[in-house]
Amino acid sequence: KLHNMVQELKGNIRVFCRVRPVLGLEAGEEAEIRYPDWRDRREIVVESTSESAMGQERKEVYNFGFDRVFEPSSTQEEVFEEISQLAQSCTDGYNVCIFAYGQTGSGKSFTMEGGGVRLSLSSLSRGRTDADYALQTAGMIPRAVQQVFRVTDELKSKGWEYKMEGQFLEIYNETINDLLGKHEFDKKKHEIKHDPKTLRTSITDTQSHALTSPSQVTSLLLLAQSRRSVAATLMNERSSRSHSVFMLRISGRNEVSGERCEGSLNLVDLAGSERLVGSGVAGDKERLRETQSINKSLSALGDVIGALGEKGDKGDKHHIPYRNSKLTYLLQNSLSGNSKTLMVLNLSPLAAHLNESLTSLRFATKVN
Ligand code: ADP
Repeated sequence: KLHNMVQELKGNIRVFCRVRPVLGLEAGEEAEIRYPDWRDRREIVVESTSESAMGQERKEVYNFGFDRVFEPSSTQEEVFEEISQLAQSCTDGYNVCIFAYGQTGSGKSFTMEGGGVRLSLSSLSRGRTDADYALQTAGMIPRAVQQVFRVTDELKSKGWEYKMEGQFLEIYNETINDLLGKHEFDKKKHEIKHDPKTLRTSITDTQSHALTSPSQVTSLLLLAQSRRSVAATLMNERSSRSHSVFMLRISGRNEVSGERCEGSLNLVDLAGSERLVGSGVAGDKERLRETQSINKSLSALGDVIGALGEKGDKGDKHHIPYRNSKLTYLLQNSLSGNSKTLMVLNLSPLAAHLNESLTSLRFATKVN
């Protein structure tokens, strides 16, 4: 009963938590994370031990509540099961945003894109083929796209015709790059335009691709990924220092009833949330700028989602600080009005990352 009330107050904002497994080389370094609420899976408990000034061991226990918790053993399929309804609601005219938040290495890309390609060696050693593994570990983006195609196919028999188009953008240092543009990183300045009448968002000089099948989308995703990794070798670990945004726009028309609907599905792999401390050496200016951009956009996102949660759907747009970052401004129309938002908080299970994990958990509490 209480939970339903909370849901109502929060409107269409949900927060999930996913803790990744300990990887092969990390064994024995786990933090104490417990999942006590085994039936509903809505809570995690984190224990941290520190030494007090008197040299005594101090144990602190923190509890955090979520709409859903996924333990390290949870599969992509299990996670998607909880997301599929939300994802497919873009076919009913909702604007859906799904964000992966967490420090670098906590499993954001695994959750959103999947583990396939990068895990190919370990999968071979387990006697599995690459293809099997890629399929099993496919992330939320390919699964959501497939689901949307499935649903629009089914609705054909009821007279619905859908058109879908997609874009894949990167926001790095508060500038937008088109990961599916004609040219790799063309240095063009892309601007965000909102049409106040149609509530459509466009980004100047970027490419929208008509989406025709799940496999075509997979090749687009691979192209985007390869461009990001090229950029990453040019610039130190760029992919963890930038946000990637997959935007699917869908418009439907019913030949029989004459109804129309427009929706969108935005899947965002956020930049690593770890707080980076400049080392102070020359040449660190670029790092500092990156860090400031990330801090700015992540806190703007927290503020916007927090404000939306407080006001529910009736929120007055003018009091929600969309303009404080490129990311929130880009997604303004998808976060307001007929919208559904999900934040997946990714956590590392390692003791060494406990402080970052606690910072992430506090961020999630703010938006929850
Ligand atoms: P991030 O995008 O947050 O930097 P990654 O998604 O790259 O993190 O994850 C870090 C490492 O952990 C990768 O090697 C990834 O394959 C692995 N990993 C993350 N989540 C899982 C999971 N649920 N199951 C198996 N491996 C995972």
